[in-house]
Amino acid sequence: MRKKIVAGNWKMNKTLEDGTSLARVILYLLSSSNPLDENKIMIIAPPALLVDNISKVIAGRKHVYVAAQNCHSEEKGAFTGEISAPMIKAAGASYVIIGHSERRAYFHETNDFLMKKVNAALMAGLRPIFCCGEVKEEREGGKFFEVVKKQISESLFHLSADDFKRVVIAYEPVWAIGTGLNASPAQAQDMHAYIRNLISERYGKELADDTSILYGGSCNGKNAAELFAQPDVDGGLIGGASLKGDEFVAIAGSFPGR
Ligand code: PEP
Repeated sequence: MRKKIVAGNWKMNKTLEDGTSLARVILYLLSSSNPLDENKIMIIAPPALLVDNISKVIAGRKHVYVAAQNCHSEEKGAFTGEISAPMIKAAGASYVIIGHSERRAYFHETNDFLMKKVNAALMAGLRPIFCCGEVKEEREGGKFFEVVKKQISESLFHLSADDFKRVVIAYEPVWAIGTGLNASPAQAQDMHAYIRNLISERYGKELADDTSILYGGSCNGKNAAELFAQPDVDGGLIGGASLKGDEFVAIAGSFPGR
């Protein structure tokens, strides 16, 4: 059974002190509302400098994990300023976000480079949260399926089925990120079903049914329940709203049947 996941991408926000208190607030609120279980998990993705400390803060808490927001494709070497997947793993993270649209746009990360990062993450024992999604012009030009297919097939479909099992996919239409304009539940469902079908064609239905596909892009406490009610939407990658402890925990409690 695939996991339902709420992941918070803090981006370049929060100092060590502020991030530590936010993580503590989240844990405190989780204790009272208790929305998580074996199949509904939370992931916190703080800036890299906080990964070690936030991992210590959440240590021993069930169903809560830490992710890094990026990793380099090489294990070590002369890459000034970069952080490798083994370093992230050693700092206590279990996941790493790869291919966020901000990395693709501002740091010119290509599908090919992201493929190498996915490999590096898996080699280090991290689970990639692989982001894909079209920009506004591609949505308006009706090219969104084509773009997402290319991103996924060029960066992920070289993987063996055993490796692919460790990947989480986040569909994040770029026009929805940080804009307050979320994809409609129907638009999200259409794309998630399309992605699941792509996975099924490549790896078979069983693996496709087991893959968690998250939605990201202006998902918040108000719209999460409707988005998460879609049959192929397995949770969210949350940016802005993950910086408010109460809203983030409310989003984690937005899965159907609660
Ligand atoms: C993101 O950057 O991954 C994201 C989904 O941001 P926001 O929720 O702020 O749109």
